Amino acid sequence: MYKRADIKVGFACNNHCTFCVQWDKRYKYKPRTIEEIKWIIKREYDNWCKYAVFTGWEPTVHPDLVEAVAYAKDIGYKQIQIQSNGTNFDKIDYVLKLIKAWVTEFSPSIHWFYKETHDNQVHQKWAWDRVVKGLINLRKLNQIVVINSVITKANYKEIPQLAELLVKLWVNQFQFAFVHILGSADKNKDIVVPKKSDVIHYVHKWLDIAKKAWIPAFTEAIPYCLMQGYEWAIAENIMPETTVVDAEWTIDSYADYRWNEWKAKREECKKCSKYKVCEGPWKEYPEIYGWNEFKPIY
Ligand code: SF4
Repeated sequence: MYKRADIKVGFACNNHCTFCVQWDKRYKYKPRTIEEIKWIIKREYDNWCKYAVFTGWEPTVHPDLVEAVAYAKDIGYKQIQIQSNGTNFDKIDYVLKLIKAWVTEFSPSIHWFYKETHDNQVHQKWAWDRVVKGLINLRKLNQIVVINSVITKANYKEIPQLAELLVKLWVNQFQFAFVHILGSADKNKDIVVPKKSDVIHYVHKWLDIAKKAWIPAFTEAIPYCLMQGYEWAIAENIMPETTVVDAEWTIDSYADYRWNEWKAKREECKKCSKYKVCEGPWKEYPEIYGWNEFKPIY
């Protein structure tokens, strides 16, 4: 069975998001050299990875991203995705270079419907305008666009409106992940992490919008007990097995890591009919809001 390689090409970023999980890595690590990136690409290809995702903090600020993509294509990767904050896709020449190098899927983020909310949260002026221009560029060039956004305290009420906008921009898929409480998100948890039971009504509403428009839509890190009737949208069920090559370590199985290190369930979950398939919330979440929202399904 083929795997996906999540390759962090560097740790620089042009945004400073309030909810970023990577936090201070930008100050600690230099961008990987192109030789190092090629070595990782080849190593993971030999380890059965046939799908590559270039990420980082922000992969498009790495000067050699186009060369890295071309190399991955040359050695045989079948799909190549760029996971990005989306701002640099506003430059059409750059997007054309990435397409020529053989990117098969673009995964930009847009987190808020209102530009003011977006720009304030990513701490960059005009970021929202640039992401939207990038989305228009990509769809005009007939590229596959898979939106990857984060649910926070600041945006959850805007999610249905954002979903309507994404439908109008005719993206191919969208996924909203509940904020992972690490790095800046942990530091700013009081203003960043919402209560899941407050959020869920809005999440269900945007899933209805996506379903009506026939656009595949998924959530991440929201357990089954809050997704009854919407189980089809639980992203963990469709995530391909992934190797994550981070700054200091490589996780050979992202699924194992989620189940054993990052997510948690409580003793009462053992009574739940979904116990064996549910990963539970991020383990930091119940430390803030407790377990009362997560009620076993009988
Ligand atoms: S009660 Fe526990 S096992 Fe059941 S869906 Fe909720 S978090 Fe998952």
